[in-house]
Amino acid sequence: MKKLLFIFLSTIISFSTFKVKAQVEYDNYFTDNQLRIDYYLFGNADTVMYSLDKLVKEPKWGGPRAQLVDNMNYGMYSIEVMPTDSYEVIYSHGYCLLFGEWQTTDEAKKISKGFHESVVIPFPKEPVDVVFYAKTDDLELVEKMKITVNPNDYFIKPAPQLPYAIYNVYGDYPVDKAVDIVLLPDGYTEQEMGKFVQDCQFFVKSLFSYDPYTHYKDRFNIRAVMVPSQDSDITMPGDSLYRNTALSCSFWTFNSERYCMTYDNETMKNLAGQVPYDQIYILANTKKYGGGGIFNSYCVSTTGNSYSSDVIIHEFGHGFAGLADEYAYDGTDNYKLEVEPWEPNITTLVNFESKWKDMLNKKTPVPTPVERKNIYTVGVYEGAGYQLHGIYRPMMDCLMNTFNGNKFCPVCERAIERMIKYYTE
Ligand SMILES: [Zn+2]
Repeated sequence: MKKLLFIFLSTIISFSTFKVKAQVEYDNYFTDNQLRIDYYLFGNADTVMYSLDKLVKEPKWGGPRAQLVDNMNYGMYSIEVMPTDSYEVIYSHGYCLLFGEWQTTDEAKKISKGFHESVVIPFPKEPVDVVFYAKTDDLELVEKMKITVNPNDYFIKPAPQLPYAIYNVYGDYPVDKAVDIVLLPDGYTEQEMGKFVQDCQFFVKSLFSYDPYTHYKDRFNIRAVMVPSQDSDITMPGDSLYRNTALSCSFWTFNSERYCMTYDNETMKNLAGQVPYDQIYILANTKKYGGGGIFNSYCVSTTGNSYSSDVIIHEFGHGFAGLADEYAYDGTDNYKLEVEPWEPNITTLVNFESKWKDMLNKKTPVPTPVERKNIYTVGVYEGAGYQLHGIYRPMMDCLMNTFNGNKFCPVCERAIERMIKYYTE
C-alpha cells in the first residue's frame, strides 16, 4: 500500500530559521483552499510529544497572500512549509498555544495531559513537508514533528458543512488585503442570538474606538457564525455552575478565576472554518469579568461586563499582535533575564536595539524612573511580563498594563500597526 503520510519525530535545532527569508508567489504553490492540520500535544512541564490527528480541507484560505513567509519570529511555536523536493520555505507562521501556558502551571509539574491543537496553511498544489518547531526557554527553535502532505491524499477530510447562518458584521474587503476576524458566540441560546448580533456590533464599536485600529478600520472584515448554545451563560467551575454551550468556554482555566478559555479546539476550528479568517474571537455571554488571548490561536472576552470593551481590546493585543502583559507582581519568574523576550513591547535590555530603542529621546535615561514627570515619556520602566525586576515596559501605563488610560502606548501601537500591514500589504 502506498504510504502518503510520513511522520518523523526529531529534536534537531534549526539554525536556518533565524534568517529572513524571501517571499514567494502564492499561485505557484497554493490553491484557494485552506489545509487544517489537527494534532495533539501530550506532556507535562518537562516533556512534550506531538501526535498527528487528521488533515481537513477547508473552503477558503483566509491568511495573507503577499507575505506568506512570516519573518517576525514571534510566538513560542512555528511551522514551516517546503516543497518535498526543495528546502525553499513557501509558508511559515509563528504562534502560541494554550498547552504551552499550561506547561508553566503547578499542575503540569505533577501530571501529564493532552491538548488538541491545529494549524492552518494555504492548501498546497504539490506534496509539501510541514515542519513543526517549538522554542526552548532560550528561544532557540527545536524541530518537533515533520509531516509530508500529499494534496491528493484521499484521507484528507472535507470540512464539515454546518447548518449555521453567517452574519457579515463589518467590512467587505478582499480577503487577502484584510485582517479577517471570525466572531464565535458561546453561551447564547437560540432566543439570545439577537443579543449576539448586538454584541458583535459592540465588538466593532470597541475595536475601532482604540488607536491604531481606528486609523486602519478600512482593512478589517468581521464575520460571525451564528451557532446557538443549549444553555445561556458559560461554565464557572469555582461556583459549581456547569453549562452546555457551543464552544465549552470556562472560567477558572488553570484554576485562575478570570481566565476564560476553551479546550474544545476541534469545535472551535470547525466553526471558524465556515468563513475565511486570520483571527478567531469568541464572545462569551456572561456578566462576569474575564477572558484570555493566545497569540495567533484565539481570544475570548465576556460581553456583559462594564470593562468588556477594554478586555476585548486587551486580549486582542495578545491574540493578534503578540503583545505581552505590561503589569508585574511579586513572585513570578516567567521570563529568563539573560534572553530578549520575543514580545515586541517588553525587553530585558539584552537586545533592546531590536525593540523600541529608536523611539526613545536621547535624553531619556535607561532604565527610566517611574516619576510623575515621565507620565507621557516613552522610556524603559522596570516591571513587566508579571515580573517586578529585570523586565521593562515602554510607558508607565498602557492598555496592556491597566485600564486606567484606555489607550495603547506608542510601542504597542506600532506593533499593532506592523501586524495590520503584515496581513494587508
Ligand atoms: Zn504598551
